[in-house]
Amino acid sequence: KLVGDIISKPPILANQNISINEASKILIENGINHLPIVDENKNLVGIITSWDIARAVAQNKNSILEIMTATVISSTVDEPIDVLARKMSIYNISGAPILDKNKKVVGMITAEDLSKLVGIRA
Ligand code: SAM
Repeated sequence: KLVGDIISKPPILANQNISINEASKILIENGINHLPIVDENKNLVGIITSWDIARAVAQNKNSILEIMTATVISSTVDEPIDVLARKMSIYNISGAPILDKNKKVVGMITAEDLSKLVGIRA
């Protein structure tokens, strides 16, 4: 099975210019934990999780660019799912944006998606 077979799409994305407050609302209103951050051309420039928001509060950070992780571990629609699962485990991340050939974000896969595959509810 390939990543493209199980991606949740369309992905919920946010522009790098939004505030931390707006980012936290997007996470809560959509019941998600990962928010890929894109620039004006919809290119991936980072990722925010609720952990990053907690850190922003703890450390009085004020901008998305300051708190996002800019080196994003991503996957592609044609990558085998087990390769992605190993990548997520090695890098200690619980979600990865999925890119198409033009490097645009077309979906997300989270650890929750992967555990559903083996019949375990995360
Ligand atoms: N293991 C937990 C998890 O997966 O959410 C917490 C630790 S994880 C190291 C938390 C950090 O990983 C956050 O700063 C977040 O921005 C970053 N992160 C989450 N997904 C990522 C991804 N696909 N690529 C790069 N960093 C990512």
